[in-house]
Amino acid sequence: MEEIIRKANIAMYHSKQKGKNRYTFFNEDMDYAIKKKADLILKLKKAVEEDKEFYVVYQPIYNVESRKIEAVEALARWNNNKYSEISPSEFIPLLEETGLIEKFGLNIIERIFRDINTFNKNGFDIRFNINISPVQIRNNDFFYHINTLMKKYSINIKNIFFELTETQILNLNEDKINEIIERGAQIALDDFGTGYSSIINVMQLPISEIKIDKFIIDNIEEDEKARILIEAIVYIAGKLRTEVVVEGVENKKQYDILKKLGVKNIQGYLISKPKIMEDLIMDLKNP
Ligand code: C2E
Ligand code: CA
Ligand code: CA
Repeated sequence: MEEIIRKANIAMYHSKQKGKNRYTFFNEDMDYAIKKKADLILKLKKAVEEDKEFYVVYQPIYNVESRKIEAVEALARWNNNKYSEISPSEFIPLLEETGLIEKFGLNIIERIFRDINTFNKNGFDIRFNINISPVQIRNNDFFYHINTLMKKYSINIKNIFFELTETQILNLNEDKINEIIERGAQIALDDFGTGYSSIINVMQLPISEIKIDKFIIDNIEEDEKARILIEAIVYIAGKLRTEVVVEGVENKKQYDILKKLGVKNIQGYLISKPKIMEDLIMDLKNP
């Protein structure tokens, strides 16, 4: 009996998600999805507490003019026996939903700061782009903790860009944005071109970099409108002294078109996949 009620509840929950006055029959897929989610959350909780399974990979951002890697984006990975294939696009939302993101975020940032020291010791004084979730900064302690970590690892805040999407920035309290800027870090506008990104906002937000999403340039060879859009963004960004990075560049044709359109910074598999620090340092030493 308990089992029937449990399944009815799951079906009801699914109905509610779809809107009022609906009915949904229970199916085993729903049950599986819910069980998997619960299990994932349990494993994530343990992983965050123990802080052993998460690690960071770095993807170069290549400057086509200086022909150098001037920055890297830090991306989290989860090394779990059962869920090693799960990407951050799946586990980050769960960490946000459960509030675990706060502790996770600080652990990841500490790892990145430690790695920055190693990069620097090897002679690479590059910039680091760090993804942050607005849930992390909502807590007032965030900057206090960041400050402590900055001191502990003697990090030069000028080399830190925090990546946030437009929706995330717009939903944040203005004080939080100002706090980032006042402390000397900079903001990169992530995933530009997805959702409802608008040029108007770009012009008003205190951002240092616009990251154009892969989705915009996927068909850039055939898509004239995409080329026009990129050219317009490059022009406006130039006037505003804002850097432009194009993400998800996978082939030489895309690269050549983007270079012609005036894009200065390229990120994507064509340049390099995200790599663990040791491997990236090897690459940087043997360009
Ligand atoms: P994102 O910030 O847009 O990161 C770019 C994603 O595109 C990364 O996926 C990267 O591996 C992938 N990518 C880069 N170049 C190419 C390419 O040429 N082709 C293709 N197909 N993909 C490419 P990843 O690492 O799976 O990360 C997914 C998302 O998870 C990130 O999207 C970011 O929003 C989030 N994320 C990752 N690490 C963190 C973190 O430490 N904190 C937070 N809050 N979010 C994170
Ligand atoms: Ca990003
Ligand atoms: Ca992005």
